[in-house]
Amino acid sequence: MDLRDDLTPFEAVNYFFHKAADIDKLSDAAIAVLTGTYRELRVQVPVRRDDGSLSVHIGYRVQHNGARGPYKGGVRFHPSADLEEVRALASLMTWKTALVGVPFGGAKGGVQVDPTGFSQTELERLSRRYFGQIAHIIGPNRDIPAPDMNTNAQVMSWFMDEYGRRRGHTTQIVTGKPLALGGSEGREAATGRGVVQVMDRAVEVRELGVPRDLTLAIQGFGNVGSWAARLADEKGYRIVAVSDMYGAVHHPDGLDVPALVAHVNESGSVTDFAGSEPMDPAALLTADVDVLVPAAVGEVITHHNADDVRASIIVEAANNPVTPVADAALTERDVLIVPDILANAGGVTVSYYEWVQNNQELYWDETEVNGRLERKLEKAFDDTWKFYTETGEAASMREAAFALAVNRVVEAASLRGYL
Ligand code: NAD
Repeated sequence: MDLRDDLTPFEAVNYFFHKAADIDKLSDAAIAVLTGTYRELRVQVPVRRDDGSLSVHIGYRVQHNGARGPYKGGVRFHPSADLEEVRALASLMTWKTALVGVPFGGAKGGVQVDPTGFSQTELERLSRRYFGQIAHIIGPNRDIPAPDMNTNAQVMSWFMDEYGRRRGHTTQIVTGKPLALGGSEGREAATGRGVVQVMDRAVEVRELGVPRDLTLAIQGFGNVGSWAARLADEKGYRIVAVSDMYGAVHHPDGLDVPALVAHVNESGSVTDFAGSEPMDPAALLTADVDVLVPAAVGEVITHHNADDVRASIIVEAANNPVTPVADAALTERDVLIVPDILANAGGVTVSYYEWVQNNQELYWDETEVNGRLERKLEKAFDDTWKFYTETGEAASMREAAFALAVNRVVEAASLRGYL
């Protein structure tokens, strides 16, 4: 596949897949299966607004590959959640679950909507209607949704309730639920926790020194970005810049993260945080920091700004934040990129633990969950690093991660007899 700067998100993921297919020496038939998706459902989602009008949105559920287990993937409510983006995110889930070794396939859902102006009742109607439209392909051993951008534990509660109305009470139909409805200890922080864990390892292998000497910039301050900031701050890293969809702030000595979290909880944004200066959100990505953590939307580091990135490590907390052209330029400059399918896999790992706990109706404490998460990610990082540094076949951690993941999916699909 040619390296171009205008690839769609799904083509971009498949660009990385093709590198792995070369390393793993896949057949043309296997490539044909794995560069496509198993099922794509497009639904109309009409939502009654509080003023009596009807707004009509398009929703998707894409199931990419289920060779290794039930389909698994988040649902996002975002204006850019078109079919190509949802396909890309579904395929990333296939590779992510395989890389960390949780027994799921890959799926994703999305509704093309900007829910920022929605009241809570409008959000509930949107969530219930979307779930109702896709419910026939969802099931606790078939496809298990979870939160993603602009969806959260409350949205998962409505999804679970919708399913329960049809099929009876079923906690394991969604993950990322509130604790009161069968959620798991540690799930809310899990993606950010995993981001910080793999960041620690990347800092270690790059011999960058101790956290207090290292600076971080984090794009996005939602579930993933804010938890990554809190946990990195607790370890002593200096978080010097953060942003959200409304703007960016910085402080050269490090932001007071607990106070920032309180400010965001109160005001809804990082902007106007006392003790910080505003900054151009685009400049955050090229700030003079040691580690850059994109934790918001996809395709933010592109051919336009890759050459200006000054961080020596990028930890991809968001999905698909670096385009293939930018990835090649950064790899050429020896910037270490911890790829999304490893860096943000903490979320799906604890989602798996939530599903296990729901199935066995027996619940673990947070220490147990965090310990299991840490061991899983440690192994995934080690496997990837070893493949990257010892085989000589992968030009980057991303290529190594994809090569490992693709191999595992191909093995499962072959054993089941459809490859
Ligand atoms: P979220 O909705 O909780 O937060 C998103 C944050 O990004 C918000 O602070 C928002 O203001 C900000 N944002 C949106 N557009 C932006 C822009 N253009 N520039 C700067 N900031 C912007 O979402 P989340 O769950 O934290 O997800 C963030 C990313 O992490 C997504 O790419 C998602 O796919 C990925 N991810 C999430 C999970 C999870 O468990 N939630 C797991 C794996 C990966």
